[in-house]
Amino acid sequence: VSDPHGIWAGVIGHPVKHSLSPLIHGAWLKAAGIEGLYAPIEASPDGFEAMVRAKIAEGYAGLNVTVPFKTQALELAETATFRALDAGAANLLTFRGGRIHADNTDGVGLLAAFAEQAPQWQAHAAPVTILGAGGAARGAAVALEDAGCPQIRIVNRTAEKAEVLAQALGGAVVAMTGREAFEGVGAVINATSAGLLGGELEAPLDATPEGCVVMDMTYVPVLTAFLAHAEGLGRPVVDGLSMLIGQAKPSFQAFFGQPPPDTDVRSLAIAELARR
Ligand code: NDP
Repeated sequence: VSDPHGIWAGVIGHPVKHSLSPLIHGAWLKAAGIEGLYAPIEASPDGFEAMVRAKIAEGYAGLNVTVPFKTQALELAETATFRALDAGAANLLTFRGGRIHADNTDGVGLLAAFAEQAPQWQAHAAPVTILGAGGAARGAAVALEDAGCPQIRIVNRTAEKAEVLAQALGGAVVAMTGREAFEGVGAVINATSAGLLGGELEAPLDATPEGCVVMDMTYVPVLTAFLAHAEGLGRPVVDGLSMLIGQAKPSFQAFFGQPPPDTDVRSLAIAELARR
């Protein structure tokens, strides 16, 4: 740790070097004039708990958690918010008096992204289709149900996993297949890692009604092929960078005790992505 003063936090993952969180939090810290540090922390696949304990011992205030440790993060915590328990995962750990507390701000980030880039969208107005059945899809489904969405349709390459998720969550969450899953929806959200893994995502977006908002959690590039396809059909789009910044805001508040300043971190992140 280079800066021995102030409040320390960071993001833990494997790999973590591509994370934009140090850039975002670092810019906020500087603009707010807070003495502190936000570090990228690499943990080996089986070294998550040991690394978290080491950071507690070093005096860290907390950590954001990214792939592949979000489930382990919740398991490690002594206390957790309902939204983290419902999502079955934590992206935010805070340490007070040596105790680990888990939260999940990905749902907040998702809804903030819609509010910012598609303010006309209303959660309660129509069903929403989520592509994917992993951790991100689960978190999104929980946040949408909390926001009053009447039906959440899970569509996944491996259909059985969509069924398992729908059964686990129950309520307004259902598993669906085919074009039917895209008819009459108010939004479609890509929560798969297809783009990240270089795969093509097949989804009949032409079956969605006009005005349906299309969102992609993937943010490299910011305008993904999926979003470009949606724009070609005239659909309004919401990008994953907006969600990333949206989840970072409550994390910053939790670590540093104040909301982040009004700094244009989006432009900084886009410049950094262009540089890579
Ligand atoms: P998981 O590994 O838990 O789930 C991956 C999902 O993607 C599975 O449903 C899998 O389907 C599906 N998938 C993978 N490849 C393909 C493909 N080629 N075609 C169709 N489906 C595919 O990942 P997470 O849920 O943790 O994360 C998903 C994505 O969301 C990641 O890209 C992550 O970076 C992003 N994310 C972004 C955030 C943000 O702030 N913008 C926040 C959180 C996540 P199957 O079951 O068939 O294998």
